[in-house]
Amino acid sequence: YNMFNCKLLLCIPVYGNTVQHLHSSILYQNLAKEVYFMTDCIFCKIIAGKIPAAKVYEDEGVLAFLDISQVTPGHTLVVPKKHFRNLLEMDSVNSSLLFEQVPQIARKIMKATGATGMNIINNNEEIAGQTVFHTHIHLAPRFSEKDDLKVTFVAHEPNFEELGKLAEKIAQTKE
Ligand code: 5GP
Ligand code: ZN
Repeated sequence: YNMFNCKLLLCIPVYGNTVQHLHSSILYQNLAKEVYFMTDCIFCKIIAGKIPAAKVYEDEGVLAFLDISQVTPGHTLVVPKKHFRNLLEMDSVNSSLLFEQVPQIARKIMKATGATGMNIINNNEEIAGQTVFHTHIHLAPRFSEKDDLKVTFVAHEPNFEELGKLAEKIAQTKE
């Protein structure tokens, strides 16, 4: 029995005597994360088939389904099957698996809906509008500039010296 692959809540009492020891370890954090998403994460429940969703694409690592809010007809969410809070928490391997599928799913939606454009959006953390804390990419097909999707970039006059300094600072910062 491999406790590292353990996916059951029951494993906690079974391994109760080791939990103290694991308390600050990565293993315990992962276990806690799994307990969280098995009980609380709406997208994990959709992935597990515990609540229904209108699926448009599925493979080993990725699921795409229609967003319940349908900001425009065909509005879709692409999610990794593995739980991550958001894109900021993901490594290059898992984010690659996710983004690998985005263009083909986007083209399928475009063709099926007859949209003439598409916004592909990802919100990270509350301040950026994230409401479900399982990474998801919004694919919102566009049919009209006057539809209900509003994305506004208000331009500001740049100070080029400050731009240079900021770019330098970001470039020098370790992630
Ligand atoms: P966020 O605001 O986090 O970027 O986007 C979360 C999205 O998930 C929202 O657009 C919301 O409509 C969608 N959503 C929330 N709960 C469900 C659900 O149970 N089923 C589906 N299909 N979409 C959901
Ligand atoms: Zn989840």
